[in-house]
Amino acid sequence: MTRAARARTLTVMFSNSVDAAVAATDADRPEPVIRVHGLVKRYGEHEAVHGIDLVVQRGEIFAFLGPNGAGKTTTVEVLEGFRQASAGSVSVLGHDPWQAPGAWRARLGIVLQESGAEPGLTTRECVALYAGYYPAPRNIDETLALVGLSEQAGERAAKLSGGQRRRLDVALALIGDPELIFLDEPTTGFDPSARRAAWEVVDGLRRLGKTIFLTTHYMEEAERLADRIAVIAAGRIVAEGTPQTLGGRQLEATQISFMLDGAVDLQTLPPALAERLARDDSGLLRLSSTAVTADLHALSGWALERGVELGSLEVSRPTLEDVYLQLTSEE
Ligand code: ATP
Repeated sequence: MTRAARARTLTVMFSNSVDAAVAATDADRPEPVIRVHGLVKRYGEHEAVHGIDLVVQRGEIFAFLGPNGAGKTTTVEVLEGFRQASAGSVSVLGHDPWQAPGAWRARLGIVLQESGAEPGLTTRECVALYAGYYPAPRNIDETLALVGLSEQAGERAAKLSGGQRRRLDVALALIGDPELIFLDEPTTGFDPSARRAAWEVVDGLRRLGKTIFLTTHYMEEAERLADRIAVIAAGRIVAEGTPQTLGGRQLEATQISFMLDGAVDLQTLPPALAERLARDDSGLLRLSSTAVTADLHALSGWALERGVELGSLEVSRPTLEDVYLQLTSEE
């Protein structure tokens, strides 16, 4: 099913009435919002997802990362109930998404990469239209304020900028007051300030206690927003953790880098430092360190004794992108 077709299907399915009893029972359970065990998805002979496990707790912002073709969309579409799993068990808000009742779908908010807005309607009219599909919608003006579109309420959707249209998409996904929101690459193509504004919208959702399943190709975005991250590569989860601990990031050595003028003899460095030192083509010296304070003390003491400057001195931890590239290149 194409994304546009999915958007249409959503609209039709939203109009189903809520089975309040089902919703109340599920909300009372302390179980995770998403629980996936051994999920396999095959397209004919091709196995795109090879038996993955995932758990997302209520109120978490969970980022799902992976290179092109890794199986992210396939997994998300199974979680959203648009594709049937080939094997394994999947529970989203207490139901198998493929067999979930209409009431279940009203508890989900889905922000697709393509806009679901009606171009001929104003921003407010679009949101009001979607509000009519839900049994207990949020307040329209509050929702427009939450996504930062109050000033554009009377503007036709067709006239909104790319970033504003994306915010309208978020408003359309939120108007039903969903418990779980799927954000599919929410800031692709945004300029840096629009991206930061979008992150603030996500902060607002966090404060409302929403559970968010985020896919993104921007490591900075995952680092800024996610409580936990899973990385999928070639249909397998290759790492899972917080942005700080993913792939053992917290255990990786720190890099101390600096420049020296040619006048000083590196042979005079304390041997414990010299044996870990590497020089790149630009003359930058790098020291891999697991005892940063002691190493900096020894290094600066050595430099002061010789009256040389540690130019461009930098102390850097491996970035999330470094860890991600390492994890996905191994696959
Ligand atoms: P991207 O970041 O490019 O969106 P992705 O991680 O979302 O990639 P998927 O779209 O889930 O990856 O694709 C996973 C694998 O399944 C790929 O090899 C892809 O070619 C294949 N695939 C996806 N959809 C179909 C389909 N409808 N029929 C056959 N193969 C498919």
